[in-house]
Amino acid sequence: MMEFQGYTHPQSYFPEFPPESEWDVIIIGAGPNGLIAAAYLAKAGLKVALIERRYEVGGGLATEEILFPGYYSSMHAIYHMMVDYMPVLRDFDLGRHGLVWIKPNLQASMVFENGDSVLLTNMIEDTADSFLKYSVKDAQTFSKTMGRWRRIVKDIIAPMTFIPPMLPIEITMALQKNEVGQELLELVEQSPLDIVTSMFENDRVRAMLLYNICMWGLDPRETGVGLFVALYLDRMMNKCYCQGGSHKFANSLGREIVQAGGVILDSSQVNDIIMEGGKATGVFLWEGRTLKAKAIISTLDPQTTFNDLVGADNLPASLKESVDGWKYDKWSLNTLHVVSEEQPRYLPRDGWASEAFMTIFGFESMDQMLEHWDNVVAGKLDTSIMGGHATCESFWDSHLVRVPPEHAHRQVSFFQHHAPYNLEGGWEAKGPEIEEAILQKWAKYAPNMKKENIVQTNQETPVDIEIRFPNMRYGSIKHGDYKPIQLGCFRPNQECSSGKTPIEGLYTGGASNYPGGCVLGGGGYLIANKVAEELGVTKWWKPTKEMERCTKTYLEG
Ligand SMILES: Cc1cc2nc3c(=O)[nH]c(=O)nc-3n(C[C@H](O)[C@H](O)[C@H](O)COP(=O)(O)OP(=O)(O)OC[C@H]3O[C@@H](n4cnc5c(N)ncnc54)[C@H](O)[C@@H]3O)c2cc1C
Repeated sequence: MMEFQGYTHPQSYFPEFPPESEWDVIIIGAGPNGLIAAAYLAKAGLKVALIERRYEVGGGLATEEILFPGYYSSMHAIYHMMVDYMPVLRDFDLGRHGLVWIKPNLQASMVFENGDSVLLTNMIEDTADSFLKYSVKDAQTFSKTMGRWRRIVKDIIAPMTFIPPMLPIEITMALQKNEVGQELLELVEQSPLDIVTSMFENDRVRAMLLYNICMWGLDPRETGVGLFVALYLDRMMNKCYCQGGSHKFANSLGREIVQAGGVILDSSQVNDIIMEGGKATGVFLWEGRTLKAKAIISTLDPQTTFNDLVGADNLPASLKESVDGWKYDKWSLNTLHVVSEEQPRYLPRDGWASEAFMTIFGFESMDQMLEHWDNVVAGKLDTSIMGGHATCESFWDSHLVRVPPEHAHRQVSFFQHHAPYNLEGGWEAKGPEIEEAILQKWAKYAPNMKKENIVQTNQETPVDIEIRFPNMRYGSIKHGDYKPIQLGCFRPNQECSSGKTPIEGLYTGGASNYPGGCVLGGGGYLIANKVAEELGVTKWWKPTKEMERCTKTYLEG
C-alpha cells in the first residue's frame, strides 16, 4: 500500500489527484459547457482537469432515479434544440458512444378544455394544416413566414451561436447587405407579442406560437429580442430527445475527456480561485486540494465566479459593477415528475394530439397565459389560471422504466410550469397544495390522469433547482435573464463576453456568457477556441460548413 502523508481528506488518496498539482487548464463545472470545453482542450493535447461539485457530471444534462426505485427522469434539459448545429456532435462523432437523438414530427400540441388542439410539427405543412381549422389566413401566413424564418436561422442565427459575439453596430452593418439579413434586423426591434399579434389573428394560434417562443424565459413584451422569435420557433419545431436520457450526452463527452487524458474530479467543489499578483493561478477545493493552471475557465454564473470565488475585493471596479448589476432569470420552472399506470391521454378529438413530444395545457387563451406570466414575475401563482407543458418521457424511451415485469407498463412523465423563485408564502409551505392543483389540472385535460393512475410523484421547485445547482441562483435556468443588455456581446458584460476576463488567467464560458443558456453547445465551444488561441495550441477542429458560409456570406467585408 502507498503511504500518504499530509493528506487532509480521504478523497485525496489517489495518486492521480495529489493535494497539489499543476495543469494547463482547470474547468469549473461539468455541465454541458464545461464538458464541451474540456473535451476539445483535452483532445488538443492540453492537461485538463474538470471539476464538478456533484457526484456526477452533466449539470443540466442530469438523468436520475428521481422517482425511486427504478424510474429515471431527465429533470432538467430534455428538449434539445441545437442538435442540428452543435459542432461538438460532429467534431467528436459522438454517435460512436451510442448517442441517439429522436426528433418527433409532432413536436408540440396545445390542448383546450373543449377538445380543440393546435399542433406544432417539424414539417411546416403539418403545422399549417392544424392552423387551418382556426384561420386560413394564419395557416397561409405561417407557411410563407416560417420558410423564410427557417432560412434566417439556418444561414445566420444558428451558425452565429458558435461564432464569437460582435458589436451590435457591426452586426447591423453586416446584415444590411442582403434581404435575409434585412428581415432579421426588422425582427430584432420588435417584441415577441408584437410580432405574434401583428401577424396572426386567431387566439389559439397566437397562444401556441407565443408559448413556444417565450417558454425559455423571454419576456413577451420586451422589445429588442425579436430575433429569438424566429430562432425559438424554428428550434422548437426541431427539438430532439436524447435516447436513454440527457445524461447520455454528458457521459459521451466524459468518455472523450478521459480518452484524451483529461481528468474529471467529481464531488469536488471549487471554494476559491487562487489570486497571485492580480492573476488567477489556480483553485482551492473543499476537500483541501490545490490545483494550479495556466488557464482557469469558470462555467458558473457571474456572481459566483467573481464575487464568491475570485473575491469582490480582487475585482476591477468596472467588472465589480457589472457583476453586481447582473440580473438573474425573471422566472424559474416548477416541475412535477410522475409515475403513472398509463400514459396521459388528452381530451382532444384529434388522437394524434396525445402523442406530442410536448403537450401544453391549462391556458384557454393568450391573455390567460400572459396573466400567468405576469403573476409569476410578481412572485404569485394563481393555480386556477396557470398552465404549462408536459412530456411522457417513457413514451419516447422505454429505457427509463427499469422495474420488474409486472410494473414495466408504467410510464414516467412530468408537468412543468413557469414559477417564481420568491413565491408568496414560500415553496416549502405552498408546495403540497401546488402539487395537488397540478394533478387536478392534469386530470382535467387528460382524464385518465386521475388519482388511481398515479403511482408516485416528486416535485422539483425553483428553490430545489438552486439547492441542486447553486450556480442557477434563484432557480435561474439560464444563469441570467435574457434582456438586450445581457445578450450578445453584453453577456455577461462587454469585458467578458469573448470568454477572456480582465483578470489574467481567468476565462468564463457557461450559460451566462454569449450565446446564453439552455443546451446550445455554444459557450463551451467558444471558450475552448479562445483558450486554445491564448495558449498557442493548434486546433484539431475546424469551423462547421454552416459557420464558414455564414461568415463569408453575411459577416465578412
Ligand atoms: C428544470 C430545468 C429544465 C430545463 N430544461 C431545458 C431543456 O429542456 N432544454 C435546454 O436546452 N435547457 C434546459 N434547461 C437549461 C439548461 O439545463 C441550462 O441552461 C444548461 O445546463 C447550462 O449549462 P452550463 O454548462 O452552462 O451550466 P450547468 O448545467 O448549470 O452546469 C454547471 C455545473 O457546475 C457545477 N458547480 C456549481 N458550483 C460549482 C463549484 N463551486 N465547483 C465545482 N462545480 C460547481 C454544478 O453542479 C453543475 O454541474 C433546463 C434547466 C432546468 C433547471
